[in-house]
Amino acid sequence: MNFARLLILDDDLDICLTIKAIAERAGLTALIATDPESFFDHVVSWRPTHIALDLIMPEMDGVEVLSRLADLNCGASIIITSGIDYRVLDAARRSGHEHGLQVSGVLQKPFSPAQLRTLLHTDGPDAAKTQMRAGNAFKPDATSLAAALRDGQVQLVYQPKINCATGALTGFEALARWHHPVHGVTSPDRFIPLAEAHGLIDTLTLCVQEQALTWMQDGLFQEQAGFVMPVEMPLTVSVNISARTLEDRNFAESVMALCDRYSVSHEHIVFELTETSAMADPTSSLDLLTRLRMKGFQLSIDDFGTGFSSMKQLVRLPFSEIKVDKSFVLTALKSEESQAVVRSIIDLGRSLGLRTVAEGVEDQETLALLKELFCDQAQGFHIARPMPPADVRAWMADYAATLA
Ligand code: C2E
Ligand code: CA
Ligand code: CA
Repeated sequence: MNFARLLILDDDLDICLTIKAIAERAGLTALIATDPESFFDHVVSWRPTHIALDLIMPEMDGVEVLSRLADLNCGASIIITSGIDYRVLDAARRSGHEHGLQVSGVLQKPFSPAQLRTLLHTDGPDAAKTQMRAGNAFKPDATSLAAALRDGQVQLVYQPKINCATGALTGFEALARWHHPVHGVTSPDRFIPLAEAHGLIDTLTLCVQEQALTWMQDGLFQEQAGFVMPVEMPLTVSVNISARTLEDRNFAESVMALCDRYSVSHEHIVFELTETSAMADPTSSLDLLTRLRMKGFQLSIDDFGTGFSSMKQLVRLPFSEIKVDKSFVLTALKSEESQAVVRSIIDLGRSLGLRTVAEGVEDQETLALLKELFCDQAQGFHIARPMPPADVRAWMADYAATLA
């Protein structure tokens, strides 16, 4: 049974009818509204699974409609349409996302039936997607997270980083996953903020570091020794550090003690920092970060280009690496603006003597562009998705074969 329902809002009836015909041919039931009032009535009473929304209408603009849809907690998959500049459409898409809406795409008029059909099927009510939403509906609480940390349910996956110019392996980023016995794998975006808010972040950071160091000594260094593959020395493992952790006065001592215990020298470890602007005590954070650098650890400013990682922090704190935020890298081929941002961040990093890393590299073309821009390192799905430690050996063998 098909239960996909498309609600169309456009003040041009001809366009409504065209969209309706395309949707019905694609197996959806469709309903038309040409004014906002009847549109919102249908949103409430008919509960559409999909919405096609014209951005510019005489009585109300699309941005207002989006914000009212957000107030109504609308879960439909939204397609934004309009005849205006793509940049404005794209800004509206981002605004929808920021309101927590599910915007599946934007269509610049005139669009083809095929373009519309693709978007209608992007978020069809298929089983996998429904399951994912069910997983996302899981609202973790601090008590279960504390238990999960104790029981070893929080584990690391590793995503490789390579040298853009030579393809050589340079290291891995360690990313936390919560393997919940009932709700399955929960992403860090859902439990890191919880850990920060409930005083569990230091426990989490310690748990992550212990796992990463154990893996380096027992896994990574052994695997790498067994392979003849191009690697850049020192091979590094990057761990993410929340700004909160910098309030821990014993952080430097505890991480040095761990490195001693696992016999890992400091130069192999990169601490990635986001939200540097949120550091509670800028002076003591500066002291701590300076000490870490003096002890030989590397420091990376993560998500650079977003509001949280600012130019001021870049200049003030002793970073050794700058990570271009993936939102720019993901769109670098499609958007001139994104490409300009990526290029400027790489140039800035180089002129400050920092290593530059781009994350979110999803295709060969983007990797080629980064090489052209003289970016040092790349990370992303095109190279490999984050993987459990048990899969690293096989990945290395496959990857070495592609380089040979
Ligand atoms: P991040 O540090 O920016 O990590 C990169 C995120 O981008 C990861 O998401 C990774 O899976 C994803 N990613 C990598 N390559 C691609 C790609 O090609 N395309 C796309 N679309 N995404 C890609 P993940 O693992 O969900 O982590 C989310 C965030 O959670 C991280 O963002 C980091 O800020 C935080 N986090 C993860 N592990 C830890 C941890 O152990 N401690 C702390 N404090 N934060 C962590
Ligand atoms: Ca990171
Ligand atoms: Ca990042």
